[in-house]
Amino acid sequence: VVVSEHTATVFLVNASAALASVAVGRPVRGEFTYVVPDVLSGRLVPGQRVLVPFGRGTALGFFLGPASPPAEEGVKLKPIQRVLEESPSLPPDLIALLRFAAEHYRYPLGEVIRSALPPGLSKAEEEKAARPDVQQFAVARVAEPPAELRRAPAQSAVLNYLLAVGGRAPLEEVAHAIPGARETLKKLASRGLVHIEEQVLQPGVREGLEQGRPALLTPEQGVAVKSLHAVLEAGGFQTVLLHGVTGSGKTEVYLRAVEHALSQGKGSLVLVPEIALTPQLVGRFRSRFGAEVAVLHSGLKDRERLFHWQALRKGTVRIAVGVRSAIWAPVENLGLVVVDEEHDPSFKQEDKLRYNARDMAVVRGKQAGALVVLGSATPSLESLENVRRGRYGVLEMKSRVDDRPMPGIELVDLRIERPREGGPILEEAPILSPPLLDAMQETLERGQQTILFLNRRGHSTFLLCEVCGLTLKCSDCDVCLTLHRSSARVVCHYCGLNSPVPDHCRECTGPLLKLGIGTERVEAEVAERLPHARVARLDRDSATSAERVTELLAAFARREIDVLVGTQMVAKGHDFPGVTLVCVVMADTSLAIPDFRAAERTFHLLTQVAGRAGRGKDPGRVLVQTYNPESEPVKRVLAHDFDGFAQQELEWRRALAYPPYTRLVAIRLEGEHPEQTARVARMLGDFLSRRMPPASAGVRMLGPALAPIAKVRGRTRWQMLLKAPTHAALAPLLTRLEVKLEEVPAGVKVTIDVDPGAM
Ligand code: ADP
Ligand code: ZN
Repeated sequence: VVVSEHTATVFLVNASAALASVAVGRPVRGEFTYVVPDVLSGRLVPGQRVLVPFGRGTALGFFLGPASPPAEEGVKLKPIQRVLEESPSLPPDLIALLRFAAEHYRYPLGEVIRSALPPGLSKAEEEKAARPDVQQFAVARVAEPPAELRRAPAQSAVLNYLLAVGGRAPLEEVAHAIPGARETLKKLASRGLVHIEEQVLQPGVREGLEQGRPALLTPEQGVAVKSLHAVLEAGGFQTVLLHGVTGSGKTEVYLRAVEHALSQGKGSLVLVPEIALTPQLVGRFRSRFGAEVAVLHSGLKDRERLFHWQALRKGTVRIAVGVRSAIWAPVENLGLVVVDEEHDPSFKQEDKLRYNARDMAVVRGKQAGALVVLGSATPSLESLENVRRGRYGVLEMKSRVDDRPMPGIELVDLRIERPREGGPILEEAPILSPPLLDAMQETLERGQQTILFLNRRGHSTFLLCEVCGLTLKCSDCDVCLTLHRSSARVVCHYCGLNSPVPDHCRECTGPLLKLGIGTERVEAEVAERLPHARVARLDRDSATSAERVTELLAAFARREIDVLVGTQMVAKGHDFPGVTLVCVVMADTSLAIPDFRAAERTFHLLTQVAGRAGRGKDPGRVLVQTYNPESEPVKRVLAHDFDGFAQQELEWRRALAYPPYTRLVAIRLEGEHPEQTARVARMLGDFLSRRMPPASAGVRMLGPALAPIAKVRGRTRWQMLLKAPTHAALAPLLTRLEVKLEEVPAGVKVTIDVDPGAM
């Protein structure tokens, strides 16, 4: 091998040169072969981040292992320039998982790895040790100001303040209360009168949300825990569906399994849909395992993320609790993976690497030889089918903790139970029917809490001209604008575009009707009808940050709120013992979505939100308002008939060849120019239909067709849907498509979405 330093070009002259396979952190497919320079020989470890020449410059690369020499002779290869870290950031099992993800989801491996790493490691820079986010506390070391402070009034004042608040306070708070306190505290510290203490911040933990270890397991929990312990003892891969009704105590089962894995010296990974919405679960993990838990969510700062990564990688922290992306956490010696609320759509990422963390959890468990527990009160049809086929084990918990009854669910037929006319504030038709208002009034009088669920935010979901019938649409998207009363704007929920509320139709100047009900309007109606109730709203508009969500939920837990109105954010796994009434304002909103999962989603949402009622000592009651009492999901929810619903829906899916009986791949196009996008869609459609495998392979294509929402952010959208009995049947076709995509003009973006979440 001849290395010429200045050009960094290497000519391969003999077969004995050490070669390395490297994934490059750029949007390019495949792995690249580099030469291992002599200085690095014997020093490379798979998973290390390296710097490699790439194109005209350099790029971050990931050393994957030795490479075999290229088949042709005389190929020019370049050397690895530098190793960026001593011990590899990526453990071998994670490399295997990321390789699988890259292949399965048809995404460049280098990009997959880069997106899995914390920001601190995804740049071509040497690794730094991360400091966690700390909070500083000032702690008084004396019980009263000593005589020496008599001539230092500022220092006395600060010390007196500290002593008045119990001798210890966050530095921030003192600095806020007393101007200049930071400097003063330094002086006090140098006198030895005050001590500055640092405490690592534990995100996701809030007072009042932690709970102790229950002394006794319920009989069903006992059986579940015993079975999981046995699987953990036996070791090896196994997936178990924990199907437990809402309030059956699934969290405690996870905790005991994690505890057992820990006692075996094994690490655990726990995935939850959304940290902000599951502070209680995080709190329970924290109070049980303390510093053994790394909490991973999107609100972390870069260095916190890096800190957790390094701690997990080193094995000093052995439990990771986190959202979707935590599936890539480098938990050492993985023994257990838990996916809570496994049916939740948020486990699917809808951009870049379009992975499903629930599915990856099973793959990771298989690769690591670990136990995978998928928990839900409303398992996905995919998981149910895997149980039916004997691939997954199943544990059922059919009763609630302490034998609390399941809430009674009653139907309110809006066609009969008409909401009464509103008062002066409500200019639009009201939506709360008399039975609903009566129930809320009673609940309020008993000092208990109500949750009101409606899966639409805003005030009115569309504005319609009374004269010409025109609806107000976004100029960039094919959707109606939502009226937001609080901000006095009309907003597009797809692109965020917003403008002042028009007072008349822009075509004919006719008056605009405010139609379609959103959470904001429900909140206003509650406030008017129950003037003594303390009402709050939980949706993306009211809870603009994770902090706000946690605060709202904590206030609700402390019973400072009587009625909580909200979107699906209120339907998640919350455990509020004070909630005895849950009202579904309109059960019909999610049924009309053009998606084969619409009925399943509706059923899940209604069951989950109903499950928030009656979790304490008082029994719960659920009222479901609807215009379609005959709809299948609504009827089944009313009867608590999960099995019946699943049975029927599975039959339907089989008949129409949808998952879990068929694998889907969506090809999505997005382009600036409508004609060009249509042309490319047809071109790709033709290409695919000409290369279809023989009919016996069972591959079918739907489309190309305009997407249900045909324009977003001014870009036209088309789609094709491939259906096949297995992924293997589709693989060759997709590989050809990837090559063909190189011909697609720059103005059109094509994405391959494997196992799409929604159509
Ligand atoms: P799920 O996730 O199944 O809806 P949770 O795990 O939130 O249910 O548990 C419901 C409630 O029951 C929680 O308040 C929890 O602390 C409590 N709980 C769970 N297990 C027990 C037990 N064995 N004894 C007493 N309370 C329990
Ligand atoms: Zn828009």
